[in-house]
Amino acid sequence: MPDRIQNTLHNSDATSRGKTIAIIGGGPAGLMAAETLSAQGFTVMLYERKPSVGRKFLMAGRGGLNLTHSEDIEIFIKRYGKHSTQIAPLIRAFPPQTLRQWCEDLGEKTFIGSSGRIFPESFKASPLLRAWIIRLEKQGVQFRTQHDWQGWDEDSLVFNTPNGPIKVKPDATLLALGGASWPRLGADGSWVSCMAAQGVKIAPLRPANCGFCIPWSDIFQARFSGHPLKPVIVHFKESATRGEIMITERGVEGGVIYALSALIREEIDRGNSALVHLDLKPDLNAENIQIRLKKPRGGQSLSNFLRKTLNLSDVALGLLMEHHDRKILGEYSPSQMTNLIKKYPLHLSSAFPIDRAISTAGGVTFETIDPNFMLLSRPGTFVAGEMLDWEAPTGGYLLQGCMAMGRHTAKGVISWLDE
Ligand SMILES: Cc1cc2nc3c(=O)[nH]c(=O)nc-3n(C[C@H](O)[C@H](O)[C@H](O)COP(=O)(O)OP(=O)(O)OC[C@H]3O[C@@H](n4cnc5c(N)ncnc54)[C@H](O)[C@@H]3O)c2cc1C
Repeated sequence: MPDRIQNTLHNSDATSRGKTIAIIGGGPAGLMAAETLSAQGFTVMLYERKPSVGRKFLMAGRGGLNLTHSEDIEIFIKRYGKHSTQIAPLIRAFPPQTLRQWCEDLGEKTFIGSSGRIFPESFKASPLLRAWIIRLEKQGVQFRTQHDWQGWDEDSLVFNTPNGPIKVKPDATLLALGGASWPRLGADGSWVSCMAAQGVKIAPLRPANCGFCIPWSDIFQARFSGHPLKPVIVHFKESATRGEIMITERGVEGGVIYALSALIREEIDRGNSALVHLDLKPDLNAENIQIRLKKPRGGQSLSNFLRKTLNLSDVALGLLMEHHDRKILGEYSPSQMTNLIKKYPLHLSSAFPIDRAISTAGGVTFETIDPNFMLLSRPGTFVAGEMLDWEAPTGGYLLQGCMAMGRHTAKGVISWLDE
């Protein structure tokens, strides 16, 4: 048990509001909560287990930092799927336009890409994070890095620090501990057991926006892992997405797969493998493909014929050769071959491990929190961000969701303290 009590919280530096809030977790949700609370004059202590904050945010910046999306707000809100009812009011209160303005105020102009996604003009996270931290410091937020939260000892929060364990007792606590993907960046889901012991109901943490396993042949794996398949349309049940698939050693990943990953994961959870169909030649309709395939093949190998007549990529041709009928594909009629190219079956057996996923599904369930996102079983403790039980596809919906939650929950803290 910790042997020291650090009472930094009720000290003489307390601000006009006279209350101290401990925020644990320095990701976008925690930082946005810190901004909202410090702007209102609260003393904010931000605890982070890593030596610096915003590591996953910085990682997101490697892909250009897709902050949000420009589509119609009603469509935007639907991206939160079965949790859109809970998340809609938060997004309406902090919509994409406000997030863009917030970035601009921090010196980072944004732009809308051709897909409607919104990025900072620098296409990086580091300048934005730097400016954000400076703003927070100016507003009095006190950063306590290398403070690894262990749970509670009665009313105190317990942290392991390089100088040994400490306890602190704030007026309110806001947990923004993230999910369990990319654990080396800080969030690893280690909070689950401690929260569950408090009677908090937690949906199992699952990979979201993840790849899926396919047992490729050795030849295909050696030749094509690391290669993109594009353009392609992936059909799964009634859904379809167009874009690019990345072939990996163990299966497939990439934007179009991520977009369908919640549905695919649910199908696999029901005990099945998930059967998706690929349109390997999305820009030609079936009729056109069939006309081309009716041309005489002459002495050409099947691969050469398909490459020349349809301009199929090597990866697409490789996939055709992975099909269980590969030995008799040469005997396929033009209509059978067209069907295979337009509706290539791919069995996805399981999701990639959570540590490779972009985000996490599952977490603290909405039935365990009140409308201010306060834990029903622990009044005065609030939760925000990816540690809650929601998920969304890539496209900026994750960061927008986490930041909107950070603000909403911070306002919840204020109302609770004011009561
Ligand atoms: C490779 C990659 C690319 C991405 N790209 C995008 C993108 O372009 N657009 C988008 O919208 N989203 C993207 N995301 C997702 C997005 O980054 C996350 O959804 C978001 O960072 C979650 O914010 P959060 O504040 O809830 O949690 P996190 O950002 O995970 O922050 C949680 C923080 O809590 C700290 N912590 C955890 N446990 C403890 C503890 N016990 N004690 C103290 N501190 C603790 C962690 O160290 C961490 O700093 C990407 C994710 C990855 C991995």
